[in-house]
Amino acid sequence: MPELPEVETVTAQLAPVLTGRRFASVEILDERLTRPLDPRQVAAQLEGERVAAVGRRGKYVVVRFERRFVLLVHLRMTGSFLVAPHGELPADPYRRAVVNLDDWSDVAYRDVRRFGTWLVLEDDELADYLAARLGEEPLTTAFTTKQLAHRLAGRRAPVKAALLDQRAVAGLGNIYADEALWYAGIRPLRSAGSLDADEVAAVRRGIRRALKVGIERQGATLSDYRTPNGGRGAMQDKFKVYGRAGEPCPRCGALIEKTRVAGRGTSYCPGCQR
Ligand SMILES: [Zn+2]
Repeated sequence: MPELPEVETVTAQLAPVLTGRRFASVEILDERLTRPLDPRQVAAQLEGERVAAVGRRGKYVVVRFERRFVLLVHLRMTGSFLVAPHGELPADPYRRAVVNLDDWSDVAYRDVRRFGTWLVLEDDELADYLAARLGEEPLTTAFTTKQLAHRLAGRRAPVKAALLDQRAVAGLGNIYADEALWYAGIRPLRSAGSLDADEVAAVRRGIRRALKVGIERQGATLSDYRTPNGGRGAMQDKFKVYGRAGEPCPRCGALIEKTRVAGRGTSYCPGCQR
């Protein structure tokens, strides 16, 4: 499932393709993408509009239009974009939408599991919508140890479960939460509220480190994730603990173990995560 580094990679590749371009025509092939709205209504609203900017917030791709509204895309489990010259998109049974741009390029949206969403919001609705769902952006200066400590304080839930809550930290999912806690040397099952100030600081650094490594590698391709240029991420070759149960820890050599936290498969090192 795409997390912050994957969505950041998607956004970085879509931005130069979309910015300044007009959506010449839009075809939405799956009503689940826009429900409860009629996909024809959403397509009609997007047609003819020019893109002002493309950005990311949490795991959302934010496409801003000149006429003061946004298209908010969440890729969920298996959403991805593919850009191709007009008429050159490969056949794909999982294609859910196609945008033809005014420079004769096509942008396809693919989604095998169909959990992804396209939502149109007015500019003045966006801030409230995101604020209700997302905490701080972990790669900005606003994400401080004090702020993270405030989000974790008093919580009896495992620290990993707390980190997966998008209102605590925006953009973390199962992979990067495990990686972040390995960098921090903290066990995923520790209760969030039990961390002292030094440990919270280590978790903050671990989150930033794990995400930066992920962005450098253009994310992780485990099954469906592709970048809009058709490439794959390479983060899967750099995992410290995720998916490595039974293999030696790269820091201390102990064998990595797998458990479940908040219903999610969770990898950690019993030797150096306390
Ligand atoms: Zn270890």
